[in-house]
Amino acid sequence: MEGHEHTHELDIGKMKLVGSATIEALRYAKSITKPGERLLDVAEKSERFLRDRGFDLAFPINLSIGSDAAHYTPSYMEDRVFTAEDVVKLDFGAAKDGILGDCAVTVDLSGKHLKMVEAAEKALDGAISMAKAGVKVREIGREINRVVSAAGFRPIQNLGGHGIESGDLHTGAFVPNFDNGDDTELEEGMVIAIEPFVTDGRGVVSEGGSCEIYDFVSDVQIRSRDARDILAEIMGKYPSEPFAVRWLSNVINSKFRLYAAISELVKAGAINPYPVLTELGGGTVAQAEAEMVVQKGGCEIIAKV
Ligand code: MN
Ligand code: MN
Repeated sequence: MEGHEHTHELDIGKMKLVGSATIEALRYAKSITKPGERLLDVAEKSERFLRDRGFDLAFPINLSIGSDAAHYTPSYMEDRVFTAEDVVKLDFGAAKDGILGDCAVTVDLSGKHLKMVEAAEKALDGAISMAKAGVKVREIGREINRVVSAAGFRPIQNLGGHGIESGDLHTGAFVPNFDNGDDTELEEGMVIAIEPFVTDGRGVVSEGGSCEIYDFVSDVQIRSRDARDILAEIMGKYPSEPFAVRWLSNVINSKFRLYAAISELVKAGAINPYPVLTELGGGTVAQAEAEMVVQKGGCEIIAKV
């Protein structure tokens, strides 16, 4: 058959619906991210914003602060509030019938890292202007690195953009934030996210200690009643997309028992953890992310703030 599997499965109209819901939710989240506000309130309000409009969530909202680059979402009953020093990466996505949104923006509550935020945004714009069928992913990475370096920062080398397919947020191409030598070419009809991460640290992230985001792997036999109840809830409500531990507090409202059940399910191989990713040099991190469909002569934006 002529054409790729990507092309004939695409429902651009529905993708744009999911994309615009994603953007609206991010703008809303941005508007309520202020010093003194609880992270938990911002997370719950932003997630409710999408659910109230009839959308599912592609993943729990990420509210990663300072040197945390990604995967921070508040825990059940967390008291932490935003401070006037925080650089906050808001990363979020709506979902509908397996179509997934993925978009991010950085809010600098300190006002001290605006150049870093701007570098991430300019790098994203540069990358978008290059994205089209036939372009190598390393060339996009080279452009991101060029813009980021010119601004006096480093891109994070072990984070990057990715292909998105129905029900699968990270698949296919990896779009690096520097020239990693990968000659893979973008193809017409591919849905991708491009996401420059910029830092004044080392330019590398590693997995930190805390983890609030997981996804379902497989059904297992498990002895503890709590773990069984939690697994049943996960398989019923979140069988494919990542979920937050706090979404399960309707099943077990004791924080201790809830987290004990989660750790039991990880050990049993029923769920997979997405730990917080933290900049190794302790640098501040800014991120910009957009989702798009690759076309012959350019790309069509699905979600960009
Ligand atoms: Mn994202
Ligand atoms: Mn992404």
